[in-house]
Amino acid sequence: MQSKKIDKLLIGTNNRGKYKEIVDLLPKNITTYSTSDFKLKSPIENGKTFKENSLIKSRYFSKKTNLVCLADDSGLEIDLLNKKPGIHSARWGGKKSNFKKAIKRVYKELNQKDKNWRKKKIKARFICVLSISFLDKKIACTIGKVEGKISPIPKGTNGFGYDPIFVPFNRNLTFGEMKSEQKYKIDHRFKAFKKIKKFF
Ligand code: IMP
Repeated sequence: MQSKKIDKLLIGTNNRGKYKEIVDLLPKNITTYSTSDFKLKSPIENGKTFKENSLIKSRYFSKKTNLVCLADDSGLEIDLLNKKPGIHSARWGGKKSNFKKAIKRVYKELNQKDKNWRKKKIKARFICVLSISFLDKKIACTIGKVEGKISPIPKGTNGFGYDPIFVPFNRNLTFGEMKSEQKYKIDHRFKAFKKIKKFF
């Protein structure tokens, strides 16, 4: 553990949606850098878990820049699909991160499993593992989850990724229909962040 609070931080993601959300969560006195400031491509995420992939990213980007790096690995688990897309959530959108394509694939696979899935509650959750590394050294690693269900049709245009098809537990709106301030207060990234924020 390092004793000095972090005041300069690289946000280790090339995903604009995640970048925005992470910067919004951080205290304003921290100077943040993005991977595009250094024109860095993402590493190959060949871990088997969210935790492994999060650490691959924070270590890789820290070593490339010599800065402390905060990275996340996150995704959507759908119980009826045996927890898919899981760590492959980004890959279901293809090379161009086309989330319409990813959502189509979710609906196609649900249809293949159960023609009547739209009449049922299809349990799902978003998971986020945040990690902070400095060079090869792990400083911290936390996990956050938000439980919910899959919407029978995509709704809303806010957010990114699978937001239009995810309805969090005890709400009627999808993440895509919620204002970002509403989503940020209850989502997986916020929950993981609450556990890691003592480092800032
Ligand atoms: P990765 O962590 O960069 O491998 O990508 C995670 C993928 O999970 C994203 O590209 C999205 O498809 C999905 N995802 C993660 N968090 C969210 C979220 O808050 N809303 C919607 N989709 C998300």
